[in-house]
Amino acid sequence: MNTNNVHYLKSLLINNLHDLHLSAGKTSAEMKTDEKLFPDPLDRATADLGRGVDLIIRGRERELIREIEEALTRIDQGEFGICQNCGSTISDKRLWAKPTSSLCVECKEKEEGRQRRRSILNDYSAMASHSYMSW
Ligand SMILES: [Zn+2]
Repeated sequence: MNTNNVHYLKSLLINNLHDLHLSAGKTSAEMKTDEKLFPDPLDRATADLGRGVDLIIRGRERELIREIEEALTRIDQGEFGICQNCGSTISDKRLWAKPTSSLCVECKEKEEGRQRRRSILNDYSAMASHSYMSW
């Protein structure tokens, strides 16, 4: 990827990061305020459910923030667009679609295959322990 495009993507990433920090700050402020609002246990349960969703969103935001920070570090170190696993060049098409890509398509597919197998194993052991519990 040429330098102009890298600079352009860098400014996009910095903007994204800024937005994420704003929204991450907002969700945690909201979480602090709803603590005493629900004296009723049922309302509190609903609020807890909402908090669970908030936690998932916040977790995803944190992950995105980390991915963007890592991409910015790679830009500064001149490693942007280089696969962190095999060292080959990541295609421009892939970088435009997802500037935080740190792996080439081949390595990413291998990694996703591993994750899928692992999550199937986790699902299976969760099911196994659940059916054991219900006996
Ligand atoms: Zn690779």
